[in-house]
Amino acid sequence: MHRVTAVIFAIAISSAAAAQWANICSGQPANKIRGCDSTGCGGYNLREGRKHKGVDVVCKDGSTVYAPFTGKIDRQTRPYGNGNAIDDGVQLSGSGFCIKMYFIKPVKHSGPIRKGEKIGVMLPMQIIYRATISHIHIQNCDLTDPTPNL
Ligand code: ZN
Repeated sequence: MHRVTAVIFAIAISSAAAAQWANICSGQPANKIRGCDSTGCGGYNLREGRKHKGVDVVCKDGSTVYAPFTGKIDRQTRPYGNGNAIDDGVQLSGSGFCIKMYFIKPVKHSGPIRKGEKIGVMLPMQIIYRATISHIHIQNCDLTDPTPNL
């Protein structure tokens, strides 16, 4: 009887530890994956013609962007490397996660971050891709599906 109770407690504690990521974009009540528009879809997809190694979280240009988990900014990452208006981002790690976040102007390129802390601002995607729903691209460093963490 007591052993069963202990097992149930252990399960409850471990699931609480695997908490979801914080809300990533100000102005959005929850992390929302971009649906499909004329330029593509925001969901994770490694199989079909257009490979998408991460997910696109809807975020209006100029919104404040928050750290999804506690850890550190490892370095700056650029999605294109061409220096256009949205060619910026960061790699974050900690709390058992490692991700790249693209299309944000980070407040810094290294150092500790706390879950929910401001880490940057959404870049002006509408200048580059008018037909695209503005979004932050998030991909796991190991390229697995980040959707369950949102
Ligand atoms: Zn994407």
